[in-house]
Amino acid sequence: MYDYLIVGAGFSGCTLAERIATVLQKKVLIVDKRNHIGGNAYDYYNNEHILVHKYGPHIFHTNSHKVWGYLSRFTEWNNYFHHVLGYVEGKLIPVPFNLNSLYAVFTESYAKKLEEQLLQQFGYGDKIPILKLQQSAHGDLQFLAKYIYDNVFHGYTTKMWELTPENLDPSVTARVPVFLSRDDRYFQDIYQGIPKFGYTKMFESMLQSPLISVALQTDYKDITDIVSFNKIIYTGPIDAYFDYMHGELPYRSLRFDFRTIDTELEQSVAQINYPNNHLYTRTTEFKHLSKQSHAKTTIAYEYPQRYDKLVNEPYYPIPQHENTELARKYKKEAEKIQSTVLFCGRLADYQYYNMDQVTARALSVFEHTIAQS
Ligand SMILES: Cc1cc2nc3c(=O)[nH]c(=O)nc-3n(C[C@H](O)[C@H](O)[C@H](O)COP(=O)(O)OP(=O)(O)OC[C@H]3O[C@@H](n4cnc5c(N)ncnc54)[C@H](O)[C@@H]3O)c2cc1C
Repeated sequence: MYDYLIVGAGFSGCTLAERIATVLQKKVLIVDKRNHIGGNAYDYYNNEHILVHKYGPHIFHTNSHKVWGYLSRFTEWNNYFHHVLGYVEGKLIPVPFNLNSLYAVFTESYAKKLEEQLLQQFGYGDKIPILKLQQSAHGDLQFLAKYIYDNVFHGYTTKMWELTPENLDPSVTARVPVFLSRDDRYFQDIYQGIPKFGYTKMFESMLQSPLISVALQTDYKDITDIVSFNKIIYTGPIDAYFDYMHGELPYRSLRFDFRTIDTELEQSVAQINYPNNHLYTRTTEFKHLSKQSHAKTTIAYEYPQRYDKLVNEPYYPIPQHENTELARKYKKEAEKIQSTVLFCGRLADYQYYNMDQVTARALSVFEHTIAQS
């Protein structure tokens, strides 16, 4: 008899399993239909023994002392700051577009003029969403906004979502703002790093309590009649739980093409974005993240795809008003059964959470709901 059946062994499921076992001393069965733990943050050594991220590159960054402290109980960290370059007009320029990018694409004198105008209008260190920069009344800044929109945002966003930036929630383009700084790091959070021995090792450490049992390649629907438990915590897609009674929630999916080549390091930084000329959106070289020393290197080429629940994985919720409304209908259904089933996580909340946000959410659900019941 288990106190909790947890569906999904990603960040959400592992955090909740660990808290319930360690703090409440209760028995947990955590199941995942995949053949591994870790959810989308799963990493593994490929045939060449290079550590790669199966579902795309995962860079940990947070301003939350609480989340960083919590996860640091289960892993040490590689001191890693993410750097991204964008392939624009035959050059590799810093992304997010910043003051250094200005000098990479324009002549020195024109870049200087634009820099001065930007700093007159905004402050050094400001992060300006492109849709806001486009509203600038100043002629040169209008030109700059159009340049950045056309060369950095439009192609990438259209490839990524099959939608133009205007047709998505403004939060999407605001995730990669124009940054009025010389700081080329992709994130400025206080805490940044990659688990020193990989994400999967960190999750193994989270699940090591004898009160936690793990069942892989197990759809929870196949075991609810044969296993007894008091309560379910569900971290899978919320629409699937309710058998799509209000229709399917749309997702964007991805395909990764992993290529291993006979060279120690191919790229100067972990990630290169291709907003314009290629079918893939970005390439990621994992050895920059793991700091692994190896004679060969593996690079993932990332191709956005339409999502079909019978064919591929649901990666990103599509941030549009009508989808949020549909998700709300499912959340109402979830409220009706909240005494027996708790919904928590990226797919269960239909929210684009980063890893730190999803961990913070799981810790909050534990403290405010589970530990109080
Ligand atoms: C391409 C990509 C890159 C990302 N990069 C970053 C990054 O750099 N930094 C960052 O902070 N965040 C990143 N994220 C976000 C990060 O992946 C998520 O925040 C995190 O993995 C969500 O954890 P979760 O446990 O809620 O969901 P998931 O990791 O999706 O776990 C849910 C689990 O539930 C299982 N499941 C579903 N249905 C069932 C069922 N019926 N029975 C059993 N099991 C089931 C699934 O198999 C899955 O393993 C990225 C996401 C993507 C898609």
